[in-house]
Amino acid sequence: MKQAELLRKIPKVDVVIGWMTDAGYIRVPPLPPETEAVQETLQLLREEILSGIRTELPEKEATMELVRQTIRRKTAPNLRRVINATGIVLHTNMGRAPLGERAVAAIVDVAQNYSNLEYDIDAHTRGSRHTHVEQLIARLTGAESAMVVNNNAAAMLLILNTMAKGRKVLISRGELVEIGDSFRIPAIIELSGCLLSEVGTTNKTHLRDFENAIDPEQTAALLKVHTSNFRIVGFSETPSVTQLAQIGAKYGLPVIFDAGSGMMADLQQYGIQDEPLVSRCIAEGADIVCFSGDKLLGGPQAGVIAGKKAWIDAMKKNQLARPLRIDKLTLAALEATLRAYLEGTEARDIPTLRMISERWDTLADKAETLRKLIRENARECKVEVIKEFGQVGGGAVPGQMLSTYVVSLQPEKISVSELEARIRRGEPPIVARISKDQLMLDVRTLNEADFPYIAAQISDSLRV
Ligand SMILES: *Cc1c(COP(=O)(O)O)cnc(C)c1O
Repeated sequence: MKQAELLRKIPKVDVVIGWMTDAGYIRVPPLPPETEAVQETLQLLREEILSGIRTELPEKEATMELVRQTIRRKTAPNLRRVINATGIVLHTNMGRAPLGERAVAAIVDVAQNYSNLEYDIDAHTRGSRHTHVEQLIARLTGAESAMVVNNNAAAMLLILNTMAKGRKVLISRGELVEIGDSFRIPAIIELSGCLLSEVGTTNKTHLRDFENAIDPEQTAALLKVHTSNFRIVGFSETPSVTQLAQIGAKYGLPVIFDAGSGMMADLQQYGIQDEPLVSRCIAEGADIVCFSGDKLLGGPQAGVIAGKKAWIDAMKKNQLARPLRIDKLTLAALEATLRAYLEGTEARDIPTLRMISERWDTLADKAETLRKLIRENARECKVEVIKEFGQVGGGAVPGQMLSTYVVSLQPEKISVSELEARIRRGEPPIVARISKDQLMLDVRTLNEADFPYIAAQISDSLRV
């Protein structure tokens, strides 16, 4: 059929609304989103005909099904789950760490009931929300004391404001980083009321640069920031925590370390290199270490601060602690996450660690299972399992690549980008990447429970 004729034959909005009300799919009169869904579906058909993707009109039943999908999409919550087929375990744009059952159960319990958030049950007096995780963090990191705030950026703000307000903070030029969505260390230093004092050069900062920059009247702290999202390689040097701690001790200055990701269990055996282990940073002499709750720790969004008790006590008393405080649901999830580490069940209870430590042969089996399932349903598409490299984190632990298995799709009748767009519009959306003109589904970040849905969605999407 010619394009012009196809366009003419697209049913009118009122006709489709009639079909839908007759079938009992929408009410009379239709709700605004229902009418909009009909309009949008017909508009999409028009566009697909014009772009040549569609060469015949769907039958009445199929048209109604398309409208129903659009209604479902329009009435679904805006913030909702997506299926992450990118293989990026800590995806900045997809909510970073997903929580395990144990953390979710803790949230539900505290959310549905009253709790002892700020109530000391034994003493029958007012308690502090900090007590719930303080000992756990101290035990896991070897620090004297700890507290938790909204996120790591908030942690930095509170630390600097408490420890160095109105005075100088020394930091290597190579560590004046921007992390993710325009979170800039220099801006945070300024916001917290401190004076930034840059030391050394971009690629080389020696310990003597720090020593020479110390101003006995004005310098309040030595700051080290983990360069989470880039590496300076080649001719480069920056003082270690140990070295800074030596200088700090000599001049009576505290050392603050923003560790970024907060690696609590050593993940080197799984290919995570160059990420500071929190307990090691404390052992090496950092006075205060801070890190995110939802990066390698695998918990909820939070900023964990661990270190010397005198400093932590001062931070708790800072007025900023209130606006930056952590809420009870987050606290519940964080406590459950930390308890998993303490009990040695982190690789089982924490999805982030489970995905990172997934065995090579398990990934291969998983990919083969998905390939077969897609193969059974999908026509006119090449489906293969291939070995690839996947990222740990987009913005969270970037540059760290893990070998992985992906199911690669090469559709024959529609373009790869069309297939990508169609599965992305599913409910839930499937987010995958295109590489070498193939659609790649990385099984590391997929749940097997979602495989039947993924296979069905691909099968539907391949239909011309
Ligand atoms: C991610 C990161 C931050 C910001 O942490 P949020 O928890 O996202 O606020 C700060 N510093 C470093 C080094 C980071 O890697």
